[in-house]
Amino acid sequence: MRKPMVAGNWKMNGTREGAAVLLQAIKNSHQKFSDKEIVVFPSFIHLPLAEKELSNTDIQWGAQNLYLGKSGAFTGEISGAMLKEYGCRYVLIGHSERRLHFHEDLNLIAEKFKSAIDVKLKPILCVGETKTQREKNETEKIIKEQIISVIEKVGIKNFEEAVIAYEPVWAIGTGLTATPAQAQIAHAFIRKLLAEQNESIATKIQLLYGGSVKADNAAGLFLMPDIDGALVGGASLEAESFLKICEA
Ligand code: PEP
Repeated sequence: MRKPMVAGNWKMNGTREGAAVLLQAIKNSHQKFSDKEIVVFPSFIHLPLAEKELSNTDIQWGAQNLYLGKSGAFTGEISGAMLKEYGCRYVLIGHSERRLHFHEDLNLIAEKFKSAIDVKLKPILCVGETKTQREKNETEKIIKEQIISVIEKVGIKNFEEAVIAYEPVWAIGTGLTATPAQAQIAHAFIRKLLAEQNESIATKIQLLYGGSVKADNAAGLFLMPDIDGALVGGASLEAESFLKICEA
């Protein structure tokens, strides 16, 4: 039985005070969600606040990115080992904004996935097609190469502790959401792709949908058999909307 998961990606948002207020509001509701996995992804600089507020709750926190290895001469970067010190259990890998704005390619993303696994951080691997790719009927081809490139680097067994988020790029931050049926087709494809490598991992892995999930569209998406939860951007920045998605 897969546990439902709702993850909030705060991106480069939040002040010190605002982050504390949001964390406190989530913390105050945590008992309602003991049957779910709720994870927040504040910016790096707000991770100590997340650790302070959430340590004695069931809510988890993670980072939006990491760099390879444990330490070294990589100015401006943060390693998985450093994230572990602040209690992170998860890390986002391959978010489309990293692929697009920071030119992270398939190889770097696979290396980052490996760095996460090496320090026992659970990677949430984000995959998904752009609008043009969807229009050219390339959705499955793109998702496949984004997943297979990681499997080739780390092996399917290392997906035992991973999560995959299907995030169509055309739906991220645009207000456009994939319909539950569109998202289900992509999720079923991902599960089948994994099943070709390992049936048991394919059955157990949590597959999240991301792309303009809001309080009013979450329930419909969560009814789909292969959608195990959501990775939420914009709507995770307000306690009320994030908690409503968690309730859905
Ligand atoms: C995201 O950035 O992962 C995301 C899904 O954003 P939004 O919910 O704002 O579309």
